Amino acid sequence: MNEKSNLRTPIVSVMGHVDHGKTTLLDKIRGTTITSGEAGAITQHIGATEVPIDLISKKCGDSNLANKFIVPGLLFIDTPGHHAFTSLRSRGGALADLVIVIVDINEGFMPQTKESLEILKRFKTPFVVVANKMDRIHGWNPTQDAPFSATYQNQSQRVKDILDQKVYEIVGELYEAGFNSNRYDRVTDFQRNIGVVPISASTGEGIPDLLMVLMGLAQKFLESDLSYDADGPGVGTVLEVKEEKGLGATIDLILYDGKLRKGDTIVIGSSGEPIKTKVRALLKPNYLSEIRTEDKFRQVNEVTAATGVKVSAPDLENVLAGSPIRAATGDVDRVVDEVKKELEDIKISTENT
Ligand code: GDP
Repeated sequence: MNEKSNLRTPIVSVMGHVDHGKTTLLDKIRGTTITSGEAGAITQHIGATEVPIDLISKKCGDSNLANKFIVPGLLFIDTPGHHAFTSLRSRGGALADLVIVIVDINEGFMPQTKESLEILKRFKTPFVVVANKMDRIHGWNPTQDAPFSATYQNQSQRVKDILDQKVYEIVGELYEAGFNSNRYDRVTDFQRNIGVVPISASTGEGIPDLLMVLMGLAQKFLESDLSYDADGPGVGTVLEVKEEKGLGATIDLILYDGKLRKGDTIVIGSSGEPIKTKVRALLKPNYLSEIRTEDKFRQVNEVTAATGVKVSAPDLENVLAGSPIRAATGDVDRVVDEVKKELEDIKISTENT
C-alpha cells in the first residue's frame, strides 16, 4: 500500500439538480463491494463511504494505479446537495476537497446545476462534471460497470452520435457558465479544462473513469492541501447531531486532520461559548452484523483523518451541524481560541457567499 506519503484521503461531495441522480450515484459507489476478505473493499464510515485505491485499481483494470497515485483513496460524503457542500466548512473553506456535479444527459443544465457551478466558482473547488443516465439514450446497449471506452465501442453509430451531441451541449452550457471543458478523455490539462464524464449511475458504466479522473484531480490540485499530521490532534466538522438510544445526544463528524482518541478533550464551536467535553466513545458502523441486532455501532479507540465517525460525549445537545471540532491535547484555552477564530472565519465566508 501507500507508505510513501502522508496525504490523507480527499473528501468528495456530489452536487446537482434534483432527480439528476446524486443519490443513485452514491448508492452505486457504496454498492461497489468486493467480496469480503479480498483486498481493497469499501469501508462504510459514519456519514461517508471510503473507496480505497486498491479497489479503484481493480475497477479500472489498472493494477499499477497505487504506484501512480499517492492519494490513498476517496472519501465520499453520503449527504448530497449544495446545502451539504456550503454548510460543511473546514477553516472557512469547503469541507469537500473535490466535487462531482451531476447532470442528466437528457435534460441538460437546470437551475440547481447552475447554482452548483456558481458556488464552486466562489469556493474555487476543483470539480468534474458527470453526464448521467446515458443508458436512457434510445438503443443503448449496456454492459454493467464497464469503463466508458469499452461500453462506447459497443454502441451503434447512431447512439454514439447522440451521446457525442449531448456531451457537446453540456460543454456549451459549461462554457456559458464560464468554464472551458471537454469530454474527460480529450482533456490534457485538468487545471485549464473541466472533464465531462458520461456515466450511468444505474448500470455503473463510466464509474471507473469517474473514479480515475477524481484521483487525478486530487493528485494534481491538492497535494499540498491534503498533507496532514496523522499523529496531530484531531480537527473536524460536525455533520449532524443525533439522539441515539442508550447514548443520548451524539455527533457525527468528518475528521479531516489528525487523530481523535477515546478520552480526548474536545472543543466544539457553538452559538455561545465553545463547548468543552470529553470523548466517551468513538463509534463506527457495525456492518458485520447482518442479523439485525441492537448494536448498530462498534467502538474503536482512535480514528485518523480523513474519516467519518460518531462521537458519544456529555453535553452535546446544543451542538449545531457544520460546527468546527478540535481535540485539545495540550493547552485547552488555546484550542478554545482557535475554535472561536474558526467560527469567525466561517461566519465571514458565509456572509460573503
Ligand atoms: P437525486 O435527486 O439527484 O438524488 O436523484 P436520484 O438519485 O434520486 O435519481 C432520480 C431518479 O432517476 C430515480 O428514479 C433514479 O432511479 C433515476 N436514475 C438515476 N440515475 C440514473 C441512471 O443513470 N439511469 C437511469 N435510467 N435512471 C437513473
